[in-house]
Amino acid sequence: MSTVLEQYRDIAARVAAAAQACGRAPGDVELLSVSKTFPASAIRELYEAGVRRFGENRVAELAEKAAVLPSDIEWHLIGQLQSNKVRKAVQLASVIHSVDSLPLLERIDRIAGEENRHPVVLLEVNVSGEASKSGCTPEALCSLAETAVKCRNLEFRGLMTMAPAGAQEAELERVFRGLTGLRDGLEERLHCSLPLLSMGMSGDFETAIRCGSTLVRIGSAIFGRRN
Ligand SMILES: *Cc1c(COP(=O)(O)O)cnc(C)c1O
Repeated sequence: MSTVLEQYRDIAARVAAAAQACGRAPGDVELLSVSKTFPASAIRELYEAGVRRFGENRVAELAEKAAVLPSDIEWHLIGQLQSNKVRKAVQLASVIHSVDSLPLLERIDRIAGEENRHPVVLLEVNVSGEASKSGCTPEALCSLAETAVKCRNLEFRGLMTMAPAGAQEAELERVFRGLTGLRDGLEERLHCSLPLLSMGMSGDFETAIRCGSTLVRIGSAIFGRRN
């Protein structure tokens, strides 16, 4: 059996190779290790090898782990965020990937001001149109982004999406290229720079990179199967 560190190194090499294969620099794509459901000890194994960027999908679980792990970890919140968890999220997370409504966006901005924090925020888009998915519709994105660029206590840096589980290659490409196209449209319309495209997970990250991903969120391929 490979260790978590060996699996991390294998994935990091595949991420760099996928970037190079489409003419991008190997360091162009950030790797986020998604540690949800795995214990702090698994995170520590990677931390000791120099990894600092970890993703969690629940605020309570992130808080539990942050309390027992070094303070220089850069935590990313990638799951749906309830309004009553915003303060804790803002206190702990450097990047919030999953902002998909105006009330949530405005609440993060207000509380970030109160907490004297400055989180990076991504808007999550439901590109696939799957009913079960979180994320705003592509139609709602523009007005959300217009507000996001004006928020003073957060840094709106890009978009995030999830492809349907088990999707075929053509559907993956439609979703990932769709997000890249939405980003390009916003940059032009709002005259802003949105360099972060958070897309790609264990099963589809190579396709996502080919379609422009700059940040892949990898859980099971690094830490193993979740129960
Ligand atoms: C769990 C999760 C991931 C990682 O999924 P894997 O398939 O285990 O790589 C990525 N993004 C989000 C939003 C998740 O909740």
